[in-house]
Amino acid sequence: GGANRPPAPKPQPIPGVAHIIAVGSGKGGVGKSTVSVNLAVAMARAGLRVGLMDADIYGPSLPRMLGANRKPDVRGDRLMPVEAWGIKAMSMGFLVEEDSAMIWRGPMIMGAVQQFLAQVEWGELDVLVVDLPPGTGDIQLTLSQKAKVTGAVIVSTPQDIALIDARRAVKMFEKVEIPIFGLIENMSYFCCPNCGHQTNIFGHGGARAEAKTLGQAFLGEIPLLAEVRALSDAGTPVVSEAPQSDAGLAFAAIVDQL
Ligand code: ADP
Repeated sequence: GGANRPPAPKPQPIPGVAHIIAVGSGKGGVGKSTVSVNLAVAMARAGLRVGLMDADIYGPSLPRMLGANRKPDVRGDRLMPVEAWGIKAMSMGFLVEEDSAMIWRGPMIMGAVQQFLAQVEWGELDVLVVDLPPGTGDIQLTLSQKAKVTGAVIVSTPQDIALIDARRAVKMFEKVEIPIFGLIENMSYFCCPNCGHQTNIFGHGGARAEAKTLGQAFLGEIPLLAEVRALSDAGTPVVSEAPQSDAGLAFAAIVDQL
């Protein structure tokens, strides 16, 4: 931050929304959106009223992962979230065509995030899950300034290069005073569906060790599973379609800790 930045305004709660949980990652492609969707749907399955906001403005993937590519209704100046899998979702992907390039400048992006917080008719929610873009940029800063975030979870693979960036994300959340629930290791290991042999494709246990080094909690391991990828591409979250799979059980166990 520059020395001339004005003091941050006090984060305001969103009326009717009890808690905001931010899902972040240092690096892209580690499964942050997959984790956001499945945590949100798992919470709804546990009986909570859940919203899911896609703050990954540049690469919105929630419409596809939720199998819900519809235009949201507009009522007056309020945008109605799209309902799918028992949750209320909003994504830039609902508002633009899937193949349209998103070339936005910082202030426009911050405007979009603010609108998603303030102008979407979230109604009464126990939890609003916010899927952040990867990294430590303007959107993270805007969210911390515009809303009171209960806590963040940070998704990483066990690979060193992802862990280095996850550490940066932890430091960023600390700097903007967002509490951290802990780290999740995605693509943690692979079990061959034919012979049961475990292969640690990206390594294994790195996020647990990193959490310990950083003095943060470790929330759980999600296996690398062809099923997770296929169900996600089909728009059917694994926690709904295969809740008894290793990944389904792992997500449910993480939700129990939040
Ligand atoms: P990010 O939001 O971090 O960019 P995504 O959630 O979009 O990452 O995931 C990237 C790709 O990896 C997607 O195709 C997704 O289906 C797949 N994927 C994520 N987690 C897993 C997993 N545990 N097992 C198999 N595929 C996964």
